[in-house]
Amino acid sequence: MNYEITGNTKLTALLGSPVSHSISPQMHNEAFRQLGLDYVYLAFDVTPDTLKDAVSGFKAAGICGFNLTMPLKVHILPLLDEITPAARLAGAVNTVTVKNGRLIGHTTDGNGYMRSVSDAGYNIIGKKMTLLGSGGAATAICVQAALDGVSSIDMFKRKNASWDKTLAFCKRISSETSCNIRLLDFNDCALLAESISESAILTNATSIGMAPDVDASPIPDPSILRQDLIVSDIIYNPRETLLLKQAKKRGCPCFNGLYMLLYQGAAAFTCWTGAEMPVDVIKKKYFSN
Ligand code: NAP
Repeated sequence: MNYEITGNTKLTALLGSPVSHSISPQMHNEAFRQLGLDYVYLAFDVTPDTLKDAVSGFKAAGICGFNLTMPLKVHILPLLDEITPAARLAGAVNTVTVKNGRLIGHTTDGNGYMRSVSDAGYNIIGKKMTLLGSGGAATAICVQAALDGVSSIDMFKRKNASWDKTLAFCKRISSETSCNIRLLDFNDCALLAESISESAILTNATSIGMAPDVDASPIPDPSILRQDLIVSDIIYNPRETLLLKQAKKRGCPCFNGLYMLLYQGAAAFTCWTGAEMPVDVIKKKYFSN
């Protein structure tokens, strides 16, 4: 196996700002090494202002593909030649492949989340989901869950400036899939309790509870969590958010966002190389819970 950078090494990358904290370079480079693939993955500090120049330079230099962090996931859209159906529905792209000089946009965040649900041992197909948040991660999860066959989704968000845009998104996904999606007021505690009482899974896709605000929970009252409700938080820093602590105390099965991160990376890895990421090795090395 060749572990060295050669004249043929193919470049993949992460574009975003900031990127220095990202675990993606370790994850992908270890996976390339494990499989003996002559690829390298590097992180580049790119902002919305420099994205166009960066992408055209990377494309001219023959890059294989790249990942994007927010807000570049949206800024990349006008620069693409093609987009997958899931990424079009989500309105965001976190992975780009370059084929014959054409930029193809994919979204792997939702896929990563749905794989993390199965990985944790749960089947939510044909069941209802209560989804907190409506940002980049929440919309990707909503689209993939709808495409995969989750029967209905109640998305909770604040009644702020992005309400109407999110309402249009929910209507569009409902009409293009067989999933019934409602947009509900995040601050309506009674509606939240009712939604949770009908759901198989509660998913926190807001940033509430993320470090350094570790004392915050997205739910107003832990007593709305019943014992057989699956509670998942896509935050992975901290590993156990206050929501997950509350759920654990109530006896709910729960899991965090660590494997969503792993599986969205694994799906991007396959887009670029055609190979399956050796996830068991990567889990052991970089994703200990
Ligand atoms: P984003 O686009 O900025 O969205 C943030 C969401 O949180 C919005 O829906 C926002 O609500 C909501 N929110 C924030 N503060 C709130 C508050 N005080 N009350 C109610 N709602 C609030 O961010 P994102 O990219 O979707 O990321 C969200 C979280 O997921 C972050 O913690 C991020 O680290 C994590 N994440 C994890 C993974 C993974 O692989 N595990 C991947 C991506 C993101 P409004 O819509 O009402 O403004």
